[in-house]
Amino acid sequence: MTEQAQQAPKPTRLAPIEMPDNKFFWDAAKEEKFVAQQCGDCGAFRFPPRPMCPQCHSLNTQITPLSGRAKLVSWIRPRHPMPFGFKELPTVAVVEVEEGFRFVSNIEGIAFEDIQPDMALQVAFVDTMGKAKVPVFRPAEASA
Ligand SMILES: [Zn+2]
Repeated sequence: MTEQAQQAPKPTRLAPIEMPDNKFFWDAAKEEKFVAQQCGDCGAFRFPPRPMCPQCHSLNTQITPLSGRAKLVSWIRPRHPMPFGFKELPTVAVVEVEEGFRFVSNIEGIAFEDIQPDMALQVAFVDTMGKAKVPVFRPAEASA
């Protein structure tokens, strides 16, 4: 029991807020799968998730796995007040996923000063309280 306590520190990030429209997304994230809602008729991605397609008004929905590849659009580092649940200042970013819509997330695995516009990113998952996971983005491997 003592050994277990020494392994991974407990996550301090707040768990995501599950709603009926986004539950599929957080359920997939727990399995480290990055998915989106797509129209079952015209194929348009719906983000944020919603019951009706804004393009063709269809109620048909499918859940589609995403590549996890994205490019950086914009980023900031909120300093005050210190974001709750973070040990270090997070980098908050808007990324454009390969499938064509924009997503707000965090950038990890790179010094803030080294971040470049349009840089290639890859999704990763971090643990939160409540045994959930949230997607973050890291610089894509050069070989990917
Ligand atoms: Zn549609």
